[in-house]
Amino acid sequence: MKAEIVATGTELLLGETLNTSAHYLTGKLSSVGIEVDYHTTVGDNPERLEQVLRQAIGRTDLVVTTGGLGPTVDDLTKELVAKVLDLKLELDPLSLEQLKQFFARRKAPMPKNNEKQVYFPKGAKILPNPIGTAPGAIIEKNGKTVIILPGPPFEMRPMFDTYAWPELQRIIGPHTERMNERVLKVFGMGESAIEEVLGELMNLPDITMALLAKRAEMHIRLVARSTETTSREAGDSLDRAEKEIRRRLGDKVFGRDQETMIGIIGQRLIDKQLTIATAESCTGGLLGAALTQEPGSSVFYLGGVVSYSNSVKQGVLGVSEENLQKFGAVSEEVAKEMAEGARSKVGSDLAISTTGIAGPDGGSEQKPVGLVYIGLATPEGVHAKKFQFYGERESVRQLTVQAALNEVRQYISNSERRL
Ligand code: AMP
Ligand code: MG
Repeated sequence: MKAEIVATGTELLLGETLNTSAHYLTGKLSSVGIEVDYHTTVGDNPERLEQVLRQAIGRTDLVVTTGGLGPTVDDLTKELVAKVLDLKLELDPLSLEQLKQFFARRKAPMPKNNEKQVYFPKGAKILPNPIGTAPGAIIEKNGKTVIILPGPPFEMRPMFDTYAWPELQRIIGPHTERMNERVLKVFGMGESAIEEVLGELMNLPDITMALLAKRAEMHIRLVARSTETTSREAGDSLDRAEKEIRRRLGDKVFGRDQETMIGIIGQRLIDKQLTIATAESCTGGLLGAALTQEPGSSVFYLGGVVSYSNSVKQGVLGVSEENLQKFGAVSEEVAKEMAEGARSKVGSDLAISTTGIAGPDGGSEQKPVGLVYIGLATPEGVHAKKFQFYGERESVRQLTVQAALNEVRQYISNSERRL
């Protein structure tokens, strides 16, 4: 099945709004084996929109439109889909009732032009909009399907997931090939090193494997194709491949699919009933932000110090004048003292520190941009590790956060092994 996504809205062509919907919908359609052949973006212009719709319906089996369902005269999607498919527009009484209730709840009179939002091409299945005023629709005619969705992504996504998705499952049926995807997430290894270790695994007959470089991690994406009836075999192939990859890469693999480094660490800290504090220099609070990203983080994250200046490193964290003079703020010794200082000041089980040269200025031959020390204080003692990152300031800072989190992850894994 081939698909085209037609995004409408002049704002998309002015560079005002990023077409995030095409990205979202493409991921969804690809995951069930629907091949998205085209992304088309067109402004709110009736002639061009009609032409785009005609072309899309002509060259693909499934057309998904976004935008142009508003109450104003430049919102024309349903009208033009009806015209291209040679269908009349009909009022849907249930949608009209819901629209009236929408305004009644807000104690506002319903403007006359909103009525246009409850007219649909004849025979369309209506997709309710629990958030806004514009319902969507799904129309099947002569073997072609058109799904009409609203523009605002926070309306489009729930409508697609809740109402269009089950319809789509029905339309593609059990025999359509789908993609069973699994993503393994790796930290601390580059693309070519991973490729070397995986070797012949990269060319398994039943699995397509791809390496995707993210800013601070690498993703190994595995795809096994199947129909609904063979999805169990595909799942088994993925399990086998995952097991072998984990065997080869060891604990460089930190998670899979929706798992994130911080999500995993938070859960581990909660399980072990450990608390943590931060002492940050070059990350300026990003590490604390990462540790508080998920709800429930107050169970393990007690707090931290952003000690950007030497005076705060000394005054608040108790870093020694001598070490600052002798080794400099970006040094193993200072990273250790920062972590120890945070641990004793905050009274946590663990404390993690960052000190480095984020750039673009401030580097030297001995201490180039991207040089970072990460300290970890634990009940067993304190140590610090040296890292050399490359890239722009934001990359260095993000990599530092991820590396610091990874230090915590490894500490917990190792202490599990010691037990
Ligand atoms: P509509 O009134 O249905 O045309 O939707 C317009 C609103 O949705 C605008 O505020 C846009 O910012 C947003 N919007 C429309 N299309 C997209 C898209 N493809 N991706 C992201 N936002 C969009
Ligand atoms: Mg619009």
